[in-house]
Amino acid sequence: MEAANAIKLDAVIFGGGVAGLWLLDELVRQGYSCVLLESAGLGQGQTIVSQGIIHGGLKYTLDGLLNRSAEAIREMPRVWRECLAGDRQPVLTRTRVLSEFCYLWRTSTLASLAGMVGARVGLRTRPQRIAPAERPAVLADCPGDVFRIDEPVLDPASLLQELADRHAQRLWRYQDHDGIEFVSPHAGRVAALRIQPLLSGGGASVGEVVRLEPAHVILTAGGGNEALARRCGVTTAPMQRRPLHMVMVRGDLPALWGHCTDGARTRVTITSAAAGSQNVWQVGGQLAEDGVRMEAPQLLAHARRELQATLPGAKLDRCAWATYRVDRAEPRTAGGMRPSEAWCQRQGNVIVAWPTKLALAPRLAQRVLDLLEPPAGLDAPLPPWPAPPVAPLPWAQEQRWYTDV
Ligand code: FAD
Repeated sequence: MEAANAIKLDAVIFGGGVAGLWLLDELVRQGYSCVLLESAGLGQGQTIVSQGIIHGGLKYTLDGLLNRSAEAIREMPRVWRECLAGDRQPVLTRTRVLSEFCYLWRTSTLASLAGMVGARVGLRTRPQRIAPAERPAVLADCPGDVFRIDEPVLDPASLLQELADRHAQRLWRYQDHDGIEFVSPHAGRVAALRIQPLLSGGGASVGEVVRLEPAHVILTAGGGNEALARRCGVTTAPMQRRPLHMVMVRGDLPALWGHCTDGARTRVTITSAAAGSQNVWQVGGQLAEDGVRMEAPQLLAHARRELQATLPGAKLDRCAWATYRVDRAEPRTAGGMRPSEAWCQRQGNVIVAWPTKLALAPRLAQRVLDLLEPPAGLDAPLPPWPAPPVAPLPWAQEQRWYTDV
């Protein structure tokens, strides 16, 4: 690949999910000259299919212990709320807040009751018990108390769009594999990149090859990090994938955001979004972990039983049901456990980074920043290439919807 011209940069970021876009915003504000390279739609992979909950640590405190995961994440609702209000960078006043809080309720088992106690110990803001008369109708028949917890829920598409709009001229789309060449990569030291931009979707039109000479290469490509790290000669950042099989239910459903706990587990986590005149529930939690071993029809039958058990008041007739599979991409841990923190590591001039949670994107950006040399004061003009679009939401993607569940 021959390049017509060369551009010196402080950093090239690979991958425009929440991690890459948040980091790009942070670095640009700190005076770094950067571009972000994206091989598909922004957030394709995890961010666009995520449930958008800014966790305060509930899932990690259900066993009653304030563990490392809970400590790392418990400040996040406050940090994000400040951004959403425009009181902190990055300003996220155009990001849609779908709900200001999540509900927390339980099934009637004893273990379920114990989990609620744990939640009260570990969260930064105590769950607020709500009076029976204030419960939403769909939670009216649930046993035990219903709580409100300080976990805002965001629309991930508007979050990605707001961050992308701010840096559109720094976002380039390229074709993975053939559209890029890493120049003399060795043990995490990359001298340069030759990249051919995509000027339209589907690879119909490509631009002139450009040589990028970045001081740092930062990989925030989620599941794409593994292959990219290999191409950079990085040997110190092994990845693990933890699969989920998520459920979607579309119909005349009330909007609901929250978790039904059962002991130290969230049996279901439900988030809602409008899809035309109807609502779609995205259902995760233990259901989606267990669903990995099931085909869609079996999982949907199980999901219907689980929703009836955890939400006795829900009217699920005449709904359409679908599933999607997705892997959480993370640093490898002993025994394949969930990592407790946002994670990044540097080898040579390459940094591999995973937020491990959408909510932890601010912490990841700070940690990456700590690994960088100061900006070199570069200000090269950038070619005016079109920015990649935000990836489609899961219910807008091609799916088989079942009505006979
Ligand atoms: P991704 O969102 O996967 O983005 C990676 C980007 O890199 C994509 O744009 C992709 O197209 C691009 N890319 C891939 N390969 C290449 C390449 N070779 N070159 C260039 N670009 C490339 N966390 C929460 O805090 N709250 C939640 O409610 C929540 N719900 C979740 C629900 C589900 C079903 C899943 C799977 C995860 C959920 N998470 C949640 C976790 C959260 O979504 C992820 O931790 C976070 O979105 C990861 O962001 P990312 O930017 O690292 O990766």
